[in-house]
Amino acid sequence: MAKVQTVTGEVDCRQLGRVLMHEHVFVINHEYQVNYPETWDDDERTADAVNKLVALKSAGIDTIVDLTVLGLGRDIRRVRAVAEKSPVTIIAATGFYTFADLPTYLRVRGPGRMFGGEEPLVGMFVKDITEGIAGTGIRAGILKCVTDAPGVTPDIERILRAVARAHLITGVPISTHTDALAERGLDQQKIFAEEGVDLGAVVIGHSGDTDDLDYLQRLIDAGSYLGMDRFGLDGIMTFEKRVATVAALVRRGYASRMVLSHDTSCHTQNVPDDYRAKNWPNWQFQHIVDDVVPALLNAGVAPRDIETMLVDNPREIFTAG
Ligand SMILES: [Zn+2]
Repeated sequence: MAKVQTVTGEVDCRQLGRVLMHEHVFVINHEYQVNYPETWDDDERTADAVNKLVALKSAGIDTIVDLTVLGLGRDIRRVRAVAEKSPVTIIAATGFYTFADLPTYLRVRGPGRMFGGEEPLVGMFVKDITEGIAGTGIRAGILKCVTDAPGVTPDIERILRAVARAHLITGVPISTHTDALAERGLDQQKIFAEEGVDLGAVVIGHSGDTDDLDYLQRLIDAGSYLGMDRFGLDGIMTFEKRVATVAALVRRGYASRMVLSHDTSCHTQNVPDDYRAKNWPNWQFQHIVDDVVPALLNAGVAPRDIETMLVDNPREIFTAG
């Protein structure tokens, strides 16, 4: 009986229910917040997050994977405060989010760096997974890394290889951020394969940002899951195209290789609330249940395929770990 670590403890993988595989509770810039504390109120933010997750549970979603890692402002105590009152189960992640460079304290450590020593990232990630994050005992259930437009810079390569090694040590799955138009998923698969990772343990994230079926087919052929995980970010790709791409891949027989999500958050400091409300009204947790699922059904996707993407695939991804 496979178990997965969540913010509120260990759960049987079969109990995860319907899962959104790439979301965020809080995206925070700590340095900004420490220096401009008026930009954050803990009680208000916690209450607001709990309200949003209560509504999400009523809409039929049981679990979210919070892929907020270092670089996005992971703050596990704040997530715990939400998780303790949330009817939606939350899975925490470890890893590093950056498009090109690590921060100085990591850039100067590790093999070939100014102060040398072992690669610190592997130990950081493994500790988060096996002992828990920041002394809370809350263990990360998934690993996260990024390859965006700048490609595999030296620091990005360090992170990808450290994530691969932490995966091989712990067995927890890997989920990524990519620039899909630059086909960065293929770069990630190459490095993971070199490290000996089974690509079936990898979700290539933001794959839904492209409708290039040849590229998506290559990712699937190599064995990975596709994160069709930015529903609601209609400025990057329209709702209609996102739905049509998932439907096309289901017709090819790949419901078993896709997961659905929004990449949204209870609150992010990076996007002004008024901008978000005005320009990205669909970028919220219930968009998939309210709009995407009906549109997929309308496009000929069977209810069984929807359950495969929301229930079976997430369960399989965590069970393999
Ligand atoms: Zn994200």
